[in-house]
Amino acid sequence: MVHGASELHGVGVGRGVAVGAVLTMPEPLSEPLEHSHGGDAAAEKTAVASAVAEAAAELQARAARADGAGKEVIEAAIQMAQDPMLADDVSARIDAGTTGERAVFEAFRSFQEQLTALGGYMAERATDLGDVSQRIIAALRGVPVPGVPESDAPFILFARDLGPADTALLDLTKVLGLITRDGGPTSHTAILARAKAIPAIVGVGSQTSIAEGTRVVLDAASGIVTVDPSDEQLADAEKRIADRAAQAAAPITDGALADGTKIPLLANLGSPKDAANAVALGAEGVGLFRTEFLFLDAETAPSVAVQQKQYRELLSHFSGKKVVVRALDAGADKPLAFLNDAHEENPALGLRGLRALRDKQQILTDQLQALKNAQDETVASGEPADLWVMAPMVADAGETQYFVDFGKKLGLKTVGVMAEIPSLALVADQVAKIADFVSIGTNDLTQYTLAADRMLGTVASYQSPWHPSVLRLVKLLGDAGAAAGKPVGICGEAAADPQLAVVLVGLGATTLSMTPAALADVRAELAGVTLEQAKAKAAAALAAESADGARAAAAAA
Ligand code: PEP
Ligand code: MG
Repeated sequence: MVHGASELHGVGVGRGVAVGAVLTMPEPLSEPLEHSHGGDAAAEKTAVASAVAEAAAELQARAARADGAGKEVIEAAIQMAQDPMLADDVSARIDAGTTGERAVFEAFRSFQEQLTALGGYMAERATDLGDVSQRIIAALRGVPVPGVPESDAPFILFARDLGPADTALLDLTKVLGLITRDGGPTSHTAILARAKAIPAIVGVGSQTSIAEGTRVVLDAASGIVTVDPSDEQLADAEKRIADRAAQAAAPITDGALADGTKIPLLANLGSPKDAANAVALGAEGVGLFRTEFLFLDAETAPSVAVQQKQYRELLSHFSGKKVVVRALDAGADKPLAFLNDAHEENPALGLRGLRALRDKQQILTDQLQALKNAQDETVASGEPADLWVMAPMVADAGETQYFVDFGKKLGLKTVGVMAEIPSLALVADQVAKIADFVSIGTNDLTQYTLAADRMLGTVASYQSPWHPSVLRLVKLLGDAGAAAGKPVGICGEAAADPQLAVVLVGLGATTLSMTPAALADVRAELAGVTLEQAKAKAAAALAAESADGARAAAAAA
């Protein structure tokens, strides 16, 4: 029998395999235009009333399937959808000539603004109200409701791209895997998918479509989606899913190579709330705490007290262990209102990272003071944490000196820099003499080395940390660290790719930090190679002429 299997190629995130039917996420709705309905107000009102009833019935059906807090939230949304004051506002706007769609849009928006102004619980409901208005407008247009589709059976989600909120709210009992048309390997969709251990393939091409309900095999390790697989392909995928589940259940040990060389495995975290899970998955400390994730919505710089409380909570999970905290990193992909005020044509090349902190030194002083205070508290409590602090996006020895002096003056003991700009790697020998440690951010280092925006799906094929140019920069840093007796860690997504993790160790990385969900795969891979073998793989990869060539050469060595 000739089978209909075909393949889509993208960039895999993680090592997972998933098998399931595809459901497509509808495109977001465009804002209703501001034109007039042309006279038939009664017909517009009838249409709106039936759209509201349709949306309420859909929500009612969802509420019946949910329980606990989820059920209460949906029931509150149903009540809001049928609020008489809202209905009156919509009617009044239609009477004034506005179309039903636009009237719903405007009335809900104004109600949302009132709720947001009240703050607290009411402000949280404002988001739900936005969801309700989208449902009503979709019903009026006769198009699918935007957002992640609902289904009783588990499925593989196919989307153009996902917003951070979509990814964060994914129901992991339903979404088996994720395929996106856009997005690169270090886009935040990919980072969140990895953090949630959802097998994902991003950037399969903006024109790609997959028929609704088609069965696919998603293999993140190879970056291949097999559409309509054969029985043998299905059986092979199911076996690999079972093998991975067995591997994840293996006992947790500290990171080490086959010859006993210790490679501490650390966690990348964005909130103290994620610390307990990281510890449970065997994180031996924290290799990157992204402090900016705590303050993405803040309008003004957070106070010393507010920060100190968060840092204290983080440190309390890691008594006696190393915790590397990064100073606020307002990157191109995650601007902070209180740090980035100017519009920049090319934000990735702008006043970001340490540059922005130097421009607003009080913010840097407050943050480092809060960190120092939090550490002092752990000492006083008799459970001292080993706090290390580093700066993002540092260019050279002069900037390294600036940050190290700044931190030491405030009493911090261990102060280092991130290697994210190629210039820093090129003068690694100078930097390693000044900094207490270096941590390599391979996401940005790859973006800047290959001049490929990490947010852009069209250049996803350039964004591989396997590229020999990136590996050569890592080697410069590893060699410089070894010569100066300073630790060189990796904290970019590259550390979460097991085969690449081995190569990075062979290039001189002394620790690896990653999203906790990746720890088991990396731990298992390291345990199978000696340092000599890792160095041989690294040498083979360095000599390759492309990212794919480096991956193949390392595998063959
Ligand atoms: C990096 O650039 O590799 C890194 C770890 O920092 P972020 O992903 O937060 O920019
Ligand atoms: Mg970075």
